[in-house]
Amino acid sequence: MTDYIEKDFEIKNYTTFKIGGKIDEAYFPDNVDEFVRLLQKYPNIPVLGNLSNTLVSSAGYEGKVILTHKLNNITIEDNKVTAECGVKGPKLSQEVCKAGLSGLEFMIGFPGSVGGEVYMNASAHGQCISDCITSVLCYSRKIGLVTFEKDRMGFDYRTSRCEKDDLIVLKAEFELTPKNSDEIKKQMDENLDFRRKHQPTLALPNCGSIFKNPPCNPAGRLLESVGAKEIMIGDVRVWRNHSNFIVNTGSGKSLDVLELMCEMKKRVKEVYNIELEPEIKYLGNKSKEELKLWQKLTQK
Ligand SMILES: Cc1cc2nc3c(=O)[nH]c(=O)nc-3n(C[C@H](O)[C@H](O)[C@H](O)COP(=O)(O)OP(=O)(O)OC[C@H]3O[C@@H](n4cnc5c(N)ncnc54)[C@H](O)[C@@H]3O)c2cc1C
Repeated sequence: MTDYIEKDFEIKNYTTFKIGGKIDEAYFPDNVDEFVRLLQKYPNIPVLGNLSNTLVSSAGYEGKVILTHKLNNITIEDNKVTAECGVKGPKLSQEVCKAGLSGLEFMIGFPGSVGGEVYMNASAHGQCISDCITSVLCYSRKIGLVTFEKDRMGFDYRTSRCEKDDLIVLKAEFELTPKNSDEIKKQMDENLDFRRKHQPTLALPNCGSIFKNPPCNPAGRLLESVGAKEIMIGDVRVWRNHSNFIVNTGSGKSLDVLELMCEMKKRVKEVYNIELEPEIKYLGNKSKEELKLWQKLTQK
């Protein structure tokens, strides 16, 4: 079997932030068996979905990564739906809408893949991916293939046991609720409308919410109150309409993003004594300066 590999892979245009240097080798498995074979061959290889929640270092990444873009099969039988990890959320949302199945309307408005959404337990508009999942087929780097029923997935706010136990999502199975397609579509349109009003579109490259919401108060509100929306470094700045978004207005660099995040975090800590925790992930191993900043941002 031949792997589809890109060497010195320019990842920037695959990210929603439009930031990132070269990756030594990027693999694009085109079926789940090949994906598992790669995971077995390269035990610590990072797996990336649609890169809508990941900041990639502008210095690049020394090593190999797997991108799941080609793992995009969906099967629908009655109200049971199985989606491979590379399926894009908006696509899945549209397909189940056509089939008259409700439960994934929230996925329409943001660009994650099923793998990233399970890993992060994505949610929006009062719905959460874990609400209608029944099981997830994972690859455990310790024990190999394993299927977890929903109640063993450790779903919590923006996390799952995939994060804690280093599990790779191969496929997820959902049980959805039959409903009229027009009603589902109406809800999806409302969700899109809400986003257009309250969040930057991808025409202004961004990575979604930068920090998780602390239990007491939304991160955006805390950041707004400490004047974060005035801050900019190089070509990256806090979005004027919502202070928990950073937008790349041109040739933004990862170092600028990390410095901006440190300043945002510092201000909230000083005024409220609250440690904001990054929601986004970081991929990079070449810049000591960036690694130090990331460590500062993630230390508890
Ligand atoms: C404009 C915008 C709006 C957004 N709005 C929301 C929102 O409302 N709600 C929300 O929850 N999120 C939102 N996001 C964030 C993002 O889309 C989600 O976090 C999504 O779940 C990330 O999926 P991804 O495939 O892009 O993940 P990536 O960025 O590719 O990866 C994120 C993490 O998941 C891991 N991962 C990816 N695939 C797999 C896999 N197959 N197995 C195991 N781990 C994997 C990666 O290693 C990484 O640690 C938004 C983002 C943008 C840009």
